Amino acid sequence: MNIPLLDLKAQYRSMRSEILAAIEATCDEQGFILGPRVAALEQAVATYVGSSHAVGVASGSDALLVALMALGVKAGDEVVTVPFTFFATAGAISRLGAKPVFIDIRPDDFNMDPGLLERAITERTKAVIPVHLFGQCADMEAINEIARAHQIGVIEDACQAIGARRNGRHAGVLGNLACFSFFPSKNLGGFGDAGMVTTNDPDLSESIAMLRVHGSRVRYVHEAIGINSRLDALQAAVLLVKLKRLDEWAEGRRRNAARYVQLFTDAKLTDRVTVPVVGADNFHVFNQFTLRVPKRDELRSYLKDHGIGTEVYYPLPLHLQNCYRELGYQKGAFPHSERAAEEVLSIPIYAELSDEQLQYVVQTIASFDRTR
Ligand SMILES: *Cc1c(COP(=O)(O)O)cnc(C)c1O
Repeated sequence: MNIPLLDLKAQYRSMRSEILAAIEATCDEQGFILGPRVAALEQAVATYVGSSHAVGVASGSDALLVALMALGVKAGDEVVTVPFTFFATAGAISRLGAKPVFIDIRPDDFNMDPGLLERAITERTKAVIPVHLFGQCADMEAINEIARAHQIGVIEDACQAIGARRNGRHAGVLGNLACFSFFPSKNLGGFGDAGMVTTNDPDLSESIAMLRVHGSRVRYVHEAIGINSRLDALQAAVLLVKLKRLDEWAEGRRRNAARYVQLFTDAKLTDRVTVPVVGADNFHVFNQFTLRVPKRDELRSYLKDHGIGTEVYYPLPLHLQNCYRELGYQKGAFPHSERAAEEVLSIPIYAELSDEQLQYVVQTIASFDRTR
């Protein structure tokens, strides 16, 4: 059996003609940058997450960058985030000349530990970026309360979490601004790079709409030094078609996650393999189904030899990356992030997986376990 970590072809096959028709219509129009399709996607995403505004940009990374710019983050400022995330979360902070200040994650859900936030805030702190890692929201109530008390902005890195909810409210309305990625492997993936920022604040929304076109509201009049980061109409055309099925795919991922938990339990593996912990307040959309396992790298190559694709998100926490040496963090600074980096393994979870495939994955992990 051959089970890739993600099989986008299966999803594409199920909607090929509708997507090709949308692409063809866009080509016939010959309008490729922003325009009515992008506006329609912005409206659709805003409606979906329940925000009053959404602004399309070229990627999730750029969404983070313009969100920070809209909050006025500049050289010398500090922004608090976690080291156990994709690089873009911290990279956006650094690109503005600001300093990422890391705090550790909670070991259960891999998300920011709000208990560590307050003591990381200084008079230079402008914002905090909690990440909704793997498709599960961070503890936003606790984070917002501390941020409010210190009057700093809250940017959700919701790049992996479109559709995720916390206490019934969607990722995208849980802070001042939220950043989404439509990278192909995200739950809502385009045919290339694309991203979006959502907010309930009309001023922030206007700032972002200005910043994404070189800081201009009126053509060739520039009020701020922005960037070129526009969502293109072909991506919007594809994403508008796919958005209609996002909830169905999320349900498929959630069903597979529940089935995995049952299969790992039945195989009596749960004392060695730690399955994802879902908070009672959370609706997890499983962009990744991430286990903690002993002998992770050995298991990973064993699964590969048996046709099963896996990935390690993420093997090296950001505070230990070469490019962040100058921040001065040492190994041991964030033990939960470092331990997660050694133990995590994401296994296939996409909606189109069959029960036979799920069983094969668990059986193969069980057979590895018996050989050790
Ligand atoms: C994917 C991702 C990003 C960046 O999104 P791109 O669209 O690839 O630029 C940022 N943060 C997290 C947590 C992500 O998973």
